[in-house]
Amino acid sequence: MKQAETFIKEKSHTEYERENIQYTLIRAKRKSIGIRISDTGEIIVRAPQRTPLREIETVLQKHMNWIEKNQTKAANRQTWYDRLGEEQIEQLRQLAKVRLTRKTAHFAAIMGLTYEKITITRAKKRLGSCSTKGSICYSLYLLLYPDSAIDYVVVHELAHLVEPNHSKQFYDVIEQFLPDWEERRKFLQSEYMHNPLVQARP
Ligand SMILES: [Zn+2]
Repeated sequence: MKQAETFIKEKSHTEYERENIQYTLIRAKRKSIGIRISDTGEIIVRAPQRTPLREIETVLQKHMNWIEKNQTKAANRQTWYDRLGEEQIEQLRQLAKVRLTRKTAHFAAIMGLTYEKITITRAKKRLGSCSTKGSICYSLYLLLYPDSAIDYVVVHELAHLVEPNHSKQFYDVIEQFLPDWEERRKFLQSEYMHNPLVQARP
């Protein structure tokens, strides 16, 4: 059984598609509906816990012009790695396999853990996951992040071998090995997502 989890999606995200509008809904403690266009052009909606979908979609329809304008802007901003060809992606995948296998072995030894195998995916949002059987998946796009953030993802996934959830105990495990994990995790959060390579430079 695969344990579905992603650290970027710790909040409750739901993907919807209605009348050809695809959007991600995040239920949050807030009073109004907020719409944001991500750097990849996705529609992210934040809404109060109990706002009905119908109401949310009415707001979306009303703002379609604004949404489309900002999606065009996002498309124009796309970086080189959004335009990689199949061959280049395969090269990146192999590089990711080597580098992430080495890092995982390194941290697993320090943490005293063993894992089953490592698989490299092409997921753009789910940068890492760990199954209950101990199989770890990493996205090849993880390579675009600074080293300190990559280490965080590796330790995060390994910590799931101890705690298969995102409880306080889980973060306690991470903290033992990466006391500055919160700083490292910031690189993976939205404000750094636009072009991680720029952020990676000192
Ligand atoms: Zn996790």
